[in-house]
Amino acid sequence: MIEMQDVWKEYANGTHALNGISVHITKGEFVYVVGPSGAGKSTFIKLMYREERPTRGHIFVNGFNIERLKNRKIPYLRRSIGVVFQDFKLLPRLTAGENVAYALEVISTPHRHIRKRVKEVMELVGLGDKLDVLPNQLSGGEQQRVAVARALVNNPSVIIADEPTGNLDPENSWGIMKLFQRINDRGTTIVMATHNKDIVNTIRKRVIAIENGKIVRDESKGMYGYDN
Ligand code: ADP
Ligand code: ADP
Repeated sequence: MIEMQDVWKEYANGTHALNGISVHITKGEFVYVVGPSGAGKSTFIKLMYREERPTRGHIFVNGFNIERLKNRKIPYLRRSIGVVFQDFKLLPRLTAGENVAYALEVISTPHRHIRKRVKEVMELVGLGDKLDVLPNQLSGGEQQRVAVARALVNNPSVIIADEPTGNLDPENSWGIMKLFQRINDRGTTIVMATHNKDIVNTIRKRVIAIENGKIVRDESKGMYGYDN
């Protein structure tokens, strides 16, 4: 499902963000990625959806060879992955429903099918009554749930999230985690970078710790392991 073999990433300015990462994540796993700021967590995540390319090493995600992937094939990769960000990244001029529909692959899809699928995922995240509302009329927790609906709309086999609870209060953070658990229970793989110690230590899952661009710990039902 996700395979990295001796992956290195050096940014154009000479920063060594990842220094030889090898990891295997199988279908249906729930994985936390933890570590100090600047450790390389976001870079690790960005490589998976080909936001960045590795300097060397091999990466396979859902059967796509990331370093060989042609730009015109990126949409096919992205359709098999749902991505959730810390700052939601909703389009402000589109309603919640339109934000979700926009992410849906619409080639020759009849209108009523789009409406139906959007309603379905919005109901799944508990926002079936907010389809026609603009993002700035929603609370932070609701905006993140729209972002989760958008990530789910193409029925991806993997959800990748970079600090999805970073801008949320504890109550909304637990709400998003409940959603992720439900999504994971249906067989979707979840990879989530986080600084949320309470969540990692309460909902026990595989923990991959990255420091200075290297995996220093990889434990099933692991702990957060840092002070904050
Ligand atoms: P984390 O998510 O753990 O905070 P990042 O992957 O964002 O870590 O960053 C790892 C290192 O790479 C840091 O030193 C960071 O400053 C650097 N970095 C991240 N993105 C870029 C970039 N686009 N250009 C140059 N350096 C970057
Ligand atoms: P929270 O307490 O989670 O921060 P808010 O107080 O922001 O939530 O919002 C509570 C409810 O009010 C939410 O259901 C949200 O959709 C609605 N709401 C917030 N701001 C607006 C607005 N400007 N217009 C319409 N509804 C709003």
